[in-house]
Amino acid sequence: MSHQADFTEKIIITIDGWSSCGKSTLAKQLSKILNYVYIDSGAMYRAITLYFLRNHVDWTKKRAVDEALDNIRLEFKFNYKSQQSEMHLNDENVEYVIRDLVVAEKVSEVATIKDVRTFVVAQQREMGLSKGIVMDGRDIGTVVFPDAALKIFMTADSAVRVERRFKEMYEKNPNITLDEVKSNLQMRDYIDSHREISPLRQADDAIVLDNTHLSIKQQLDIALKWAKERISQQSQQPTINGA
Ligand code: C5P
Repeated sequence: MSHQADFTEKIIITIDGWSSCGKSTLAKQLSKILNYVYIDSGAMYRAITLYFLRNHVDWTKKRAVDEALDNIRLEFKFNYKSQQSEMHLNDENVEYVIRDLVVAEKVSEVATIKDVRTFVVAQQREMGLSKGIVMDGRDIGTVVFPDAALKIFMTADSAVRVERRFKEMYEKNPNITLDEVKSNLQMRDYIDSHREISPLRQADDAIVLDNTHLSIKQQLDIALKWAKERISQQSQQPTINGA
């Protein structure tokens, strides 16, 4: 079956959920098939964290945070070689370094800071103006795009998530242990779901996708069906002037 589709009506698709449950895999595949732009919102928080760490920014101080944010420019640039859009921090490609455990250990703390979230969310909303996007993260369906046409909330058994992330990280760093990965995921999930501003939670109108027992292909087929339904519903809606 060809997955190529040409839908004229563009919608916003949000994918939120726990760490390492396959959000980005699904988001990348969906965006490719629908010819949408994929935005990895976590990469933005990771890049800011990298900047803070490298520049020894004391992120407990509002002034230090605001000064640092003034010097941060985030941009996604499409890399034809890797065939994906990659995060650039002040013109440096940081797509790979932001995946390091050093960054993963601090990113959730940085993501609790109000001014950091305001800075990131404003840019994310701008990216959604022309629709035709798939954005994954923690607060995309609840805060960034509360009116999105399709909201998916992903989840999977925690042992399965640890195993998947471990395999991914082990390829880049064979010194990493399962315990390190496990405690990092638990810590991030805890902070993400308990923070005061924009905590991770399922939007009331989100559809749950539990992929514990699903293959990548199966989860894609399910999500694609939902996306096609929402796109066709959207194209049947009358416009304001009834045209
Ligand atoms: O998605 P990823 O695991 O790369 O995100 C890294 C971290 O960034 C998350 O653990 C979370 O703390 C933060 N984040 C967030 N809001 C988002 C996306 C990510 O707070 N929309």
